[in-house]
Amino acid sequence: MPGYELFGALERKEVNDVLETGILMRYGFDAPRKGIWKSKELEQEICTTFGIAHAQLVSSGTAALTTAMAALGIGAGDEVIMPVFTFVASFEAVLSVGAIPVLVDIDDTLTLDPEAVAHAITSRTRAVMPVHMCGSMANMDELKAICGKHHLLLLEDACQAIGATYKGKSAGTIGDAGTLSFDFVKLITCAEGGAVLTNNEALYKKCDQFCDHGHDHMGADRGADHHPYLGYNFRISELHAAVGLVQIRRINEFLDLQKRNHAVIFNELKKISGLTFRRRPDPAGDACSFLSFFMPTEEMAKDVMAGFAAAGITGNFYWYDNNWHYVRKWLHLQNGSWMHRLFDDQKKKVLHYANQAFAASDAIMGRCISSSISLTWSAQQAQERADKMAEVVGKVLAKHLIKSQETI
Ligand SMILES: *Cc1c(COP(=O)(O)O)cnc(C)c1O
Repeated sequence: MPGYELFGALERKEVNDVLETGILMRYGFDAPRKGIWKSKELEQEICTTFGIAHAQLVSSGTAALTTAMAALGIGAGDEVIMPVFTFVASFEAVLSVGAIPVLVDIDDTLTLDPEAVAHAITSRTRAVMPVHMCGSMANMDELKAICGKHHLLLLEDACQAIGATYKGKSAGTIGDAGTLSFDFVKLITCAEGGAVLTNNEALYKKCDQFCDHGHDHMGADRGADHHPYLGYNFRISELHAAVGLVQIRRINEFLDLQKRNHAVIFNELKKISGLTFRRRPDPAGDACSFLSFFMPTEEMAKDVMAGFAAAGITGNFYWYDNNWHYVRKWLHLQNGSWMHRLFDDQKKKVLHYANQAFAASDAIMGRCISSSISLTWSAQQAQERADKMAEVVGKVLAKHLIKSQETI
């Protein structure tokens, strides 16, 4: 799954380039930086790697989401439709621009259910934000059609799907804008970092300004820059960009390993009847950072997790009980535990949308286990893991089958 697993000499060399000049900032200091512009280089690599016209690096994926929303003009009172299975950063970013996160159900793709999206549209809806979870993408054709029909913005949270594609297009390049995260556990890491992707030049310019206090970056002298808009500081540093520059050049190496190890485990678990898998709208485009599967019942999923732990099989996630990724445990959001005061109207609406019931998603997430795929396993190690996983799953299924026969 994460690029940090293969951090090495190449990354150290790029960081050293920056340390040699001592110019750790991405802007200015033209003479002493001696032609070293790691952030600019990384932005260029992002554009060519993912096939997008513009990329704006920022300090995190969360900052990328906030920057994209600000540049898209999403703000006070606007509703942003997003899934109940994501990372907390998605709704944090919506809240950060004064908008309302409208949570809706996912389907067995583990991403936005297009039907649930259509149902949630109101006169206040401004944008739909699919979150491409666990390396595989949402049903973009259907979501694009809904957004087109209702004149809504489409903002892809592709933070967790670097390297995934949908019908040949990279995650984050299909909507009006997309975001990537390069935090420490993503496929490509900068330690901390993120990017906004867009083909819209005017939007890109706004992102460029927003993440650096509104600077228009038109002159050689920062002090003389104009500030057409207010902004923030979401800048990335040259040290972070240097790490990402190597990592992105290694993306095919990372993806090949991930896909190979994923296939080994998938091929083994596929043999087990009773087990089903996450539906992938474009299976060939799965970045394969996780293998996600469903047990027939919640009880069996919990048994499998206990079995994996007992057998020492690490790196498995039961999101249903996880505090960061699924609505059920977002108590701070449901309780409105803000440090600062919100406008009453925003607070009321946020609490309303955060406290709905999500039975359809519960029925899916309660049975779901995601198993992370390491870049460090050899094919043989992946096979050994697959065998161990299959044994645990098989035992749980057999135990419950016996139990259900006993009750007949
Ligand atoms: C990681 C992640 C983010 C946020 O990225 P950071 O760089 O950690 O701020 C946003 N959304 C999703 C789905 C993520 O997985």
